[in-house]
Amino acid sequence: MRLRDLDTGTEHERVVECIDETSEYHGIIAIHSTVLGVAVGGTRFWPYRVTEDALADALRLSRGMSYKSALAGLNLGGGKAVIIGNDRTVDRDRLFRVHGRFINTLEGRYVTGEDVGTSPADMEIVRSETPYVAGLLDRSVDPSPFTAHGVVRAMEAATAYTCGSNCLAGRRVVVQGCGHVGRYLAKELHRAGAELVVTDVDPGRVAQVVTETGAQTVAPEKVYEVEADIFAPCALGGVLNDETIPRLRVAIVAGAANNQLREGRHGDELEERGILYVPDYVANSGGVINGARELLGWDVDRAARGIEGIYDTTLAMLAMARAQGIAAWRAADRLAEQRLGGRPPAGA
Ligand code: NAD
Repeated sequence: MRLRDLDTGTEHERVVECIDETSEYHGIIAIHSTVLGVAVGGTRFWPYRVTEDALADALRLSRGMSYKSALAGLNLGGGKAVIIGNDRTVDRDRLFRVHGRFINTLEGRYVTGEDVGTSPADMEIVRSETPYVAGLLDRSVDPSPFTAHGVVRAMEAATAYTCGSNCLAGRRVVVQGCGHVGRYLAKELHRAGAELVVTDVDPGRVAQVVTETGAQTVAPEKVYEVEADIFAPCALGGVLNDETIPRLRVAIVAGAANNQLREGRHGDELEERGILYVPDYVANSGGVINGARELLGWDVDRAARGIEGIYDTTLAMLAMARAQGIAAWRAADRLAEQRLGGRPPAGA
């Protein structure tokens, strides 16, 4: 097992590259900040084309975790682990044991959990090598309904800000992605009386949501052109970019997908076009806030209040944006940085 510190030139506290030839393990663990508490963030298992892509993901996602926890009022820091690989060809038991050993060398400054490409079962394997893991089979609950509810609260705040009423009844909402979060979101919006348009690359998932909510559907490639009040990206990152933004016909973008802006400047561009963008890490923090039950010992009521608080956080961000004449995503960054002690954002 080999571990080496990487000098990334960013504000991250520590970034390590981990290699174990015998198990074909190659991973990167990034600790962005432990100012507020232990760095928390899942392990992503992904067939990255090159190591640089994996590093960029680890840096971006760990920073996102710090900002998300800071804005959510959690005393947690931000970290992320990525493992480069193809999950169809590896010996998972061996791989995640090695991963656990590498995490253990960080002596509790980083706590991992599941993420894209990993499961609670993988975290059980990690647990056999280190105590610094959350999201275990017997202790965790699916974060998706909590994330979805937080997105609804962010939508209500954005609607209150733009329309004077936070009522979602009769509002037209386009949901991109009918997976874990998208499905719960569609159901909650349906109960609130919203008019739904949904899409997914998996027709089975679309059909399920249509049955449950009576939603209209749109082809995945046409989703950006739907005229609506709100667009909710709940599938992939990078969906707000030069190609998609000019096609948008909505007043608000608020969804669960991480890293929706391909670049920061796309947040400004949305603003210039009169589209209110609620940054992903503001809107999608419901799952992390609920995770405070496992990580910080919060009770159910405290976690629920925290998720409801996404409404006030969104309004505070919008008030700051207006007062300072800046885009909402910049205001969100500033609010997070205030809690993190004024650390400047990387590359902004
Ligand atoms: P998921 O994998 O269950 O669902 C994603 C859905 O998007 C799938 O149904 C997939 O078929 C669909 N999809 C993929 N490409 C698409 C495309 N081009 N157009 C339309 N649909 C497409 O994932 P999830 O847990 O629902 O998470 C959704 C997003 O929210 C992810 O970006 C995730 O990182 C983020 N997120 C999730 C949580 C959570 O609690 N699960 C919390 C915070 C952030």
